[in-house]
Amino acid sequence: MAIQKPRGTADLLPNQTKKWQYVEEIARMTFADYQFQEVRTPIFESYDLFSRSVGETSDIVSKEMYDFYDKGDRHVALRPEGTAPVVRAYVENKLFGPEHTKPYKVYYMGPMFRYERPKNGRMRQFHQLGVEAFGSDNPATDVEVIALAMSLFDQLGLKHLKLIINSLGDIESRIAHKEALLAYLTPHFEVLSEDSKRRFEKNPLRILDSKDPKDIEIVAQAPSILDYLNEPSKTYFETIKTMLEALEIPYEVDATMVRGLDYYNHTIFEIMSDAPAFGGTATTICAGGRYNGLVEEIGGPATPGFGFGLGVERLLMVLDTENVKIPDLHEVEVYIMGLGEATNIESLKLVQAARDAGLSAERDYLNRKMKGQFKVVDKLAAKTVLIIGEDELEKGVARFKVLASGKEVEVPLAEIYQDFRKFYNIQTTDMTAFNEFFNKED
Ligand code: ATP
Ligand code: MG
Repeated sequence: MAIQKPRGTADLLPNQTKKWQYVEEIARMTFADYQFQEVRTPIFESYDLFSRSVGETSDIVSKEMYDFYDKGDRHVALRPEGTAPVVRAYVENKLFGPEHTKPYKVYYMGPMFRYERPKNGRMRQFHQLGVEAFGSDNPATDVEVIALAMSLFDQLGLKHLKLIINSLGDIESRIAHKEALLAYLTPHFEVLSEDSKRRFEKNPLRILDSKDPKDIEIVAQAPSILDYLNEPSKTYFETIKTMLEALEIPYEVDATMVRGLDYYNHTIFEIMSDAPAFGGTATTICAGGRYNGLVEEIGGPATPGFGFGLGVERLLMVLDTENVKIPDLHEVEVYIMGLGEATNIESLKLVQAARDAGLSAERDYLNRKMKGQFKVVDKLAAKTVLIIGEDELEKGVARFKVLASGKEVEVPLAEIYQDFRKFYNIQTTDMTAFNEFFNKED
């Protein structure tokens, strides 16, 4: 039997990579506008990096990690998310140093790995775009990064988006909430899922993020973190809301949202699509928050941080369901149509000349007849065709056809070779408007 790709992975073929490149292109431009620069970290890291940051009791670390021992008996893991590696790189490369401007703002894009049950929009190898901003505890940073995500979606043409925010408060607030949470959960302990029983000891907040239906039922009445925020945390959250309003970014507060990673505090957010095609259930495409303390946890100096990760597969699903048209960046500008074996070398030279002039060009290699080649032209949606048959070759000319207008001219080959770009521009510029304008002046 033929070998197949691993479960939960995908081959991205040209009709898809076209869309990926478009999304990545828009993302890079948007990130640049917000002054974020790219970092690229390894695909695998030490297992400890994730258990320490994402958290031992999180689903990601306890169930979903692709971890293994390498031939040197090192415990390593394919990265399940992008923040911990970037924080590690921040610490290891001393990016907190005085020679770097604060906040230090970076983005990443690339594959992430989680051992999950694959289904629509849930893969074992998936891709994230993400940003991280280090060194600012100004709530404006939170709001700016959220605005960046919203602006990215806006530029991609997405409409049905919902921004959900919540606050997890600072450590003091978390301790107060934890106490209340334990008091509430204790009488329900026996009916909690096995996972949540374990979390009860280690990290009860995680229980609020449980996917178990019984847990969800119990958790519905649990004390809300928002009722346990101390004054500074409350003020911080109020400022976030005021700033979102200042930028006219609509949002909803969901006091039950806690996110699946341990390192968050203060602001957390999710951006969901409720596009009709998802059948009423909203899908999270982007999620993030503040992680003051994480840099310290990984061995760096106390540094506030804020960031998000965005699922590219899910984003592309949303683009599809919202019928967003992706422009074709690979259109064939000129197709060289050589007719007859004798034109092979001239076709070779012409297609090369076109490409040297910076035009995107294609030709026939299979000695197809004119009809067959026009079918290819159609399929490629080429804009123009340069036809050279054996007669033309003998006369030293070619016929140039602009497909949109049907305009056709005969041009000496020498003129084309002299300056392909100039020839192309002259022949493809629509002069009608120009001429009309000047005729009126007369
Ligand atoms: P979920 O609750 O859907 O499992 P999550 O909380 O695990 O999501 P994050 O860790 O916050 O997700 O990752 C950020 C984004 O990455 C998600 O909103 C989603 O778009 C995407 N994502 C996460 N896991 C997967 C996956 N297995 N396959 C595809 N995309 C994913
Ligand atoms: Mg998950």
